[in-house]
Amino acid sequence: AKEAGRNQFVLYDEQLREKRLETARTVERLREALTREEFVVFYQPLIRLADEQITGVEALIRWQPSGESMVPPDKFIGISEDSGLIVPIGAWVLRESCRVVAGWHRRHGTVVSVNVSPRQLREPGFGLMVLDALETSGLPPEALILEITEGVLVDSGIATEQAISHLTMLRTHGVRVAVDDFGTGYSSLAYLRDLPIDHVKIDRSFMPVPGPPDPAARTLVKAIIDLAAGLRLGTIAEGVETAEQVELLRELGCQRAQGFYFSRPVPEADAARLIDRERLT
Ligand code: C2E
Ligand code: CA
Ligand code: CA
Ligand code: CA
Repeated sequence: AKEAGRNQFVLYDEQLREKRLETARTVERLREALTREEFVVFYQPLIRLADEQITGVEALIRWQPSGESMVPPDKFIGISEDSGLIVPIGAWVLRESCRVVAGWHRRHGTVVSVNVSPRQLREPGFGLMVLDALETSGLPPEALILEITEGVLVDSGIATEQAISHLTMLRTHGVRVAVDDFGTGYSSLAYLRDLPIDHVKIDRSFMPVPGPPDPAARTLVKAIIDLAAGLRLGTIAEGVETAEQVELLRELGCQRAQGFYFSRPVPEADAARLIDRERLT
């Protein structure tokens, strides 16, 4: 039995080493992906529910290694955060999407929402990098929304202070801030009143599932929308997939929605066509 235990330990050790190697290889490939320009940004329309116009897009990164199939962000964002590579990757996404949306903004007033990881907000240079991306692209600050998760603002410590100071500075220039995946964290709600925030994005786990009416789901969505409205925050519902969900959101006074019902995230050229056409449904 002792022998078997030892073998098991050796096996475990072996697996751990294999896993570390694999991670190191992926980090190396991601570093190369940056210089080889293998990343692409897809755009998912954000719809104003009052008139179903596309008022904005969310920028969502993909990785396209040559000769291989597209890699979704869930497969490489975590590793990029752990290794710090998210700092240059995130800066690239910001510059690229500001450049692309600047043209759409001139024609249609389109705004762009860009995901920012906690790791990026710890960088002392983050705020200036954003201002520089705006200036270089010609996109006005009012047309940029930074999507952050609530943990960034409510954990205590120096990282949180750094994040808040970046966001506060950027807001004085007109940049907006949205809390992503709202309602999935466990923080107190007081931060909604005290911190530099403009919009909440209602996580898709709150969308009522198809089937018989679900009063509890409706109550939750309504409570979030009313809370946000009472604090003068904008509301964006995520993961909207059905006409019934759109109906409910409109009835409850949600301002904007995003989801497969309107459009999946699509490449730049397809997004440009949708925006020029303006109406989706
Ligand atoms: P997220 O910010 O919550 O983005 C929304 C995700 O939901 C996207 O997945 C989008 O394709 C998906 N989605 C949109 N509508 C629907 C719908 O109706 N139904 C369902 N089931 N899903 C929907 P995606 O593009 O795979 O991105 C996953 C996550 O990766 C994002 O979640 C975000 O956390 C992260 N991510 C993506 N791009 C970036 C980036 O440039 N920087 C950082 N830091 N994170 C990113
Ligand atoms: Ca997001
Ligand atoms: Ca989200
Ligand atoms: Ca999410």
